[in-house]
Amino acid sequence: ASNLVEIVNLKKYYPIRRFGITKKVIRAVDGVSFSIKKGETLGLVGESGCGKSTTGRMIAQLVPSTEGKIFFKGENISKFAVKHAKQLSKKIQYVFQDPYTSLNPRHKIASLLKEPLTIHHIGNKKERRQSVLEMLEQIGLDPSFENKYIHQLSGGQRQRIVIARALMLRPEFLVLDEPVSALDVSVQAQILNLLKDLQQQFSLTYLFISHDLNVVHYMSDRVAVMYLGKIVEVSDVDHIYKAPLHPYTQTLVSAIPTVWKKEKRRRILLEGEIPDPSSTKGCSFQGRCPFAYDRCKFEQPKPIHLDNHRMVSCHLYS
Ligand code: SF4
Ligand code: MG
Repeated sequence: ASNLVEIVNLKKYYPIRRFGITKKVIRAVDGVSFSIKKGETLGLVGESGCGKSTTGRMIAQLVPSTEGKIFFKGENISKFAVKHAKQLSKKIQYVFQDPYTSLNPRHKIASLLKEPLTIHHIGNKKERRQSVLEMLEQIGLDPSFENKYIHQLSGGQRQRIVIARALMLRPEFLVLDEPVSALDVSVQAQILNLLKDLQQQFSLTYLFISHDLNVVHYMSDRVAVMYLGKIVEVSDVDHIYKAPLHPYTQTLVSAIPTVWKKEKRRRILLEGEIPDPSSTKGCSFQGRCPFAYDRCKFEQPKPIHLDNHRMVSCHLYS
């Protein structure tokens, strides 16, 4: 299959200014590249603050990038013209983590779901209502939900509405940013299974952002691991969990409490301080890496592409 989405050397820098002078620059996303094939789910994992959400937001055109390219169906959309924006916003949707902040509590479910159609002038009043009822059925909610408000809904039901709203415009690509993190574990599986069903029914492609490696394992075909603004490893899901290459991925995987891991892995503990993201010298993982050696202090590792489409960014593999 061909790539639906491809990002190349994407960057987001935030200058820290004092007295009008740029003191330093925070490299929130620092040269990220990956591609997502049509119909697949790419998991994007890493600790909070590593730049996962910012990467997703740049792809969804919610924040501008500092540098780099974003291709959607082969077209560079990173510097899109304004007339293109509306068209694009139909094809790419972003699902936020917290339903409370992304849904207006004063609107009924029906009008929350209708709103994207109204904005894009799709259908008449009757057709819009019909679309709402069909969508409620798709996401497993009774038609009576059209007259409810979000405060009358459980956490799982609210997240279903957020997903439904994102699907009203029949997008091709969803950025799912921690879509189940706010939910009870018992409800998480229902929402994950719903997302899998919807992916089949609507031929969707997902970027699935999460800090939870079990959830990512369940959802993803391939996984990209992010650390301090950089992708340190990309691989198919099996390799990431059974034979992780990058020392950071190894520490993440060794720390998962799980039932599916066959052999017991010795847990590797992360030591050292998280370095200052404004510093660029050497490998950004060096202070916490159990395998760090001299070269890691002075030289930033470059991405190394191995067979089976695996990528790792670490001197141990050069
Ligand atoms: Fe560790 Fe060096 Fe590899 Fe960085 S480049 S992950 S410090 S071994
Ligand atoms: Mg986030």
